[in-house]
Amino acid sequence: MSPTTPKIAIVGAGPVGLTFAAILHRNGIKSTIFERESSATVRAQGGTLDIHAETGQQALIAAGLLSEFWKVSRPEGEATRIVKRDGTVLLDENENQSPQPEDQSTAGQEEAQQEARGRPEIDRRDLKDLLIAALPKETIRWGKGIASATPVPGSTQWILNFLGQSADENQKDKEAGPYDLVLGADGAWSKIRPLLTDVRPLYSGVTALDVWISPENLAERPDVARFIGGGSCMMMDEDRFASFQRHSDGSARCYACVRTRRTLGGEPPLARELLQLSEEEVKSLPGGEVDWKDEKVRERFLDTQFAGWTKEFRNAVLAMTEQPLLRPLYMLPVGHRWEGRPGVSLLGDAAHVMTPFAGVGVNVGMVDAKELAEGIVEYVRGDRKGGEELAKVLRKYEEGMFERSAKDAEFTFKMMELEFQKDGCEKMRDIMTGVQPPA
Ligand SMILES: Cc1cc2nc3c(=O)[nH]c(=O)nc-3n(C[C@H](O)[C@H](O)[C@H](O)COP(=O)(O)OP(=O)(O)OC[C@H]3O[C@@H](n4cnc5c(N)ncnc54)[C@H](O)[C@@H]3O)c2cc1C
Repeated sequence: MSPTTPKIAIVGAGPVGLTFAAILHRNGIKSTIFERESSATVRAQGGTLDIHAETGQQALIAAGLLSEFWKVSRPEGEATRIVKRDGTVLLDENENQSPQPEDQSTAGQEEAQQEARGRPEIDRRDLKDLLIAALPKETIRWGKGIASATPVPGSTQWILNFLGQSADENQKDKEAGPYDLVLGADGAWSKIRPLLTDVRPLYSGVTALDVWISPENLAERPDVARFIGGGSCMMMDEDRFASFQRHSDGSARCYACVRTRRTLGGEPPLARELLQLSEEEVKSLPGGEVDWKDEKVRERFLDTQFAGWTKEFRNAVLAMTEQPLLRPLYMLPVGHRWEGRPGVSLLGDAAHVMTPFAGVGVNVGMVDAKELAEGIVEYVRGDRKGGEELAKVLRKYEEGMFERSAKDAEFTFKMMELEFQKDGCEKMRDIMTGVQPPA
């Protein structure tokens, strides 16, 4: 180990790994992120994230990026509609939105951009772009996935094993290490987690059909745009949940969720089971696979799983013809923890993946990034050095993270229970209007 600064490898350039690297960079500490995907744009980046004042925004302050965040986030994206399956509108925050009085002075604008407030939405792509732009180009090694890490005998350091490389190639690869810290920010199916625990994410019992409509197509469908409103639209019923979200580029997305089981674990249902296809129908599938791009398939999904729901909902889902994907949702057990190991730890979904039903996942992960980065900064600036001292930094971070994330995981689980109830819409309206406290 260098006498002052540990050599740090971060696995995964998701929002959490990037936030962590950005906070370190702001404090003059170098790190390297190894990302499996070949670029930031290789894959559609999914929906929007609401970044909370007391958590996610605090991490952006630590990275010096809050004012940049305000330039691309969408406070209007907070406007929510709650609609029952029969089309009754229980809440429409779009109706109450009056233009905010603007402070035209430069000083006023600058002050507003330094302030953490509310829960504005930001597209996942915009958040990642913001963080990537804050890092030196060489920080991220795109297209270099990690298969595992191996401890260096007799030390607290680790060697990285790259995906798709032979042992020989790995040995010759100068980027393999050794590293003083290997931090897994590689999401739900982390390759670093098995170094710390055998626990794997469990199927939550919920599967979502994820569909998207491009800006051009949404512009042609004012009925769908009206139904969603300026931010998001939620619908809830027994064992069913749907969420529509607007994006900053003028597109929109829907997650139409089916709760197929009320217990955790086991295998998620196959597409053909959700569609209730007969043996004959399965045999006639081209290539034996369900094609979600086929409108008839999506109609069948709505007929079998969302029968009797209002036409506005049906029309909106059917209008979303692009990027259809069936997503089983997974979670780690609430309160999951592990015994610490020197030189290795986890952040974000790798540490505590939750279902999205409380909208807190990325926020909890960004706090992980802030707390661990601050611990490392303190270590680098302090007098006490060495592998054991660094292990104490990890241990302190993990103890705080276990406690924090267990509360969020429990809250998320309760919200999932609430949102899949017959009177979920009424309960959510009461929470959002302050009649009831959150779960
Ligand atoms: C449908 C849905 C909706 C959601 N909505 C919200 C919301 O509104 N609000 C909210 O707070 N949270 C939400 N979440 C949760 C949020 O998306 C996650 O908590 C967040 O993305 C976690 O960030 P992360 O960086 O830890 O992991 P990820 O975003 O999963 O990023 C992990 C990164 O690691 C890379 N990677 C994976 N394996 C390897 C490997 N072996 N080697 C190298 N790189 C690797 C991946 O390519 C990826 O870039 C939602 C989740 C889902 C599924």
